[in-house]
Amino acid sequence: MASQEIIVIKIGTSSITDIKSGVDYKTINLLAKAVAELKAEGHTLVIVSSGAMSLGICKLGLDHAHSGNVAYKQALTSVGQVSLMNAYDNIFKYYGYSVGQVLITHKGLDDKERNDCIKGTFENIFKLGVIPVVNANDTVTSEELAYGDNDSLSARVAVLLQAQKLIFITDAGGFYDKDPHLDSSAKLIERVTDIDDYIYSLAGESSTKVGLGGMKSKVEAARICMDDKVRLLITGKKEISKLGNLYDSDVKIKGTWFY
Ligand code: GLU
Repeated sequence: MASQEIIVIKIGTSSITDIKSGVDYKTINLLAKAVAELKAEGHTLVIVSSGAMSLGICKLGLDHAHSGNVAYKQALTSVGQVSLMNAYDNIFKYYGYSVGQVLITHKGLDDKERNDCIKGTFENIFKLGVIPVVNANDTVTSEELAYGDNDSLSARVAVLLQAQKLIFITDAGGFYDKDPHLDSSAKLIERVTDIDDYIYSLAGESSTKVGLGGMKSKVEAARICMDDKVRLLITGKKEISKLGNLYDSDVKIKGTWFY
């Protein structure tokens, strides 16, 4: 059995929400099952979940195509964050776990005193056996909402907690040499050991309507992870059910490893 590790799993808006019906309960259920399996092996789990803005739009019956200013989006996330946490709370309960909402910002991580508070909160959440569900505190900052930066936020959380692994669940399902949504000849790159100009050149902008992060922010997150020896896996929603077998060498999870 693998030694006990700290694993951060980040799930993006387009994986966790359905543009018409709101929360994708089936996906959260698969995630909760995988988390419970990894917890049973003694690992420590952290979830970083986007989706608040999209769920706020769904809850209020608004149109995803309508764009507003940052304060408008912040108001929407305040609504959607409630739906998001309700879904995690109810589904994880079924697997015997309580969840804790942790809302943080880059500025909070930059500031020594706040950074210590964040760390202390995580340490005690772990002691309580609770699963932290992290999102950006969108009310107090405009940066994350504007640039879709839950990706680098999760990389910084992984570094802060000295996690061994960060897993991104994205609609792209991995890092490709071309945009797989636009070009069916796109090939999956299974391993990246050096983030050079070629890798940067492959990372385009986000191509989904509801998610804010794209491959560019994933590569940026990978750079933060590689500097601190955190292994990053970019994978897709279809692979969630295999995550519980992450340490089983017979199980192949489709995606891209950066290390
Ligand atoms: N915090 C935003 C939300 O929950 C998402 C930010 C991101 O996707 O990076 O909607």
